Amino acid sequence: MKVLVAVKRVIDYNAKPRVKPDGSGIDLTNLKMSMNPFDEIAVEEAVRLKEGGIASEVVVVSIGPAAAQEVLRTALALGGDRAVLLQDEGEVQPLAVAKALAALCKREQPDLLILGKQAIDDDACQTGQMVAALLDWPQATFASQVDVSGGRVKVTREIDGGLETLDLALPAVVTTDLRLNTPRYASLPNIMKAKKKPLDVLTAGELGVDLAPRLKTLKVVEPPKRSGGVMVADVAALVDKLRNEAKVI
Ligand code: AMP
Repeated sequence: MKVLVAVKRVIDYNAKPRVKPDGSGIDLTNLKMSMNPFDEIAVEEAVRLKEGGIASEVVVVSIGPAAAQEVLRTALALGGDRAVLLQDEGEVQPLAVAKALAALCKREQPDLLILGKQAIDDDACQTGQMVAALLDWPQATFASQVDVSGGRVKVTREIDGGLETLDLALPAVVTTDLRLNTPRYASLPNIMKAKKKPLDVLTAGELGVDLAPRLKTLKVVEPPKRSGGVMVADVAALVDKLRNEAKVI
């Protein structure tokens, strides 16, 4: 069975992004970029399926600038077999990514497509759902457990009030939640080996997809600055402040 994993290059979760002075977006200059954390979980799950003898090949794919090759190399160091970059230097929105992933699935014919539930830069939480719709494949989002056997996948999801288990026929789309697994770190020998693994670079034209943005950002603003905290003299002063000054925002 072949597993395709979508990995996005995003601003590192520890980095402090700044809004561009003209409010047109985020200033990416000198910002550390990394693999989207939910995609690390997706790669880990695919690699575990391979280590468990269930998957035979793990293909990692990204849509983005040439620099996204770095996150693909990381995914290869974590256990991916080969990588595909659909290179585009412009803004790639979730619908465009979904179209590109659908085209890559038609080309690669995987049994399972695993994505993160959400990219931490746009927080869109849309791509998995849209690619499933475009392919007309069953989907299970926010997976906290994945069991593949007999041409089907059982996916457990944490929902309000308990755990829900879905049973899907393959091929299917699964998106990962935080508790699905704990991703491993790439070892130095595996980072070296990853440099030699195949990484194909395609263009949108070669794949026959239109990546043009459909949404226009009107403006991006920084959140309001928090005012500093104060020390109070005693418990009575604290209670007084809580009673008379604290308000729910
Ligand atoms: P989003 O819908 O933007 O929140 O992203 C959800 C998931 O879709 C991510 O966790 C990735 O697995 C995948 N994805 C989104 N954008 C890209 C991209 N440019 N390249 C590869 N995968 C992506």
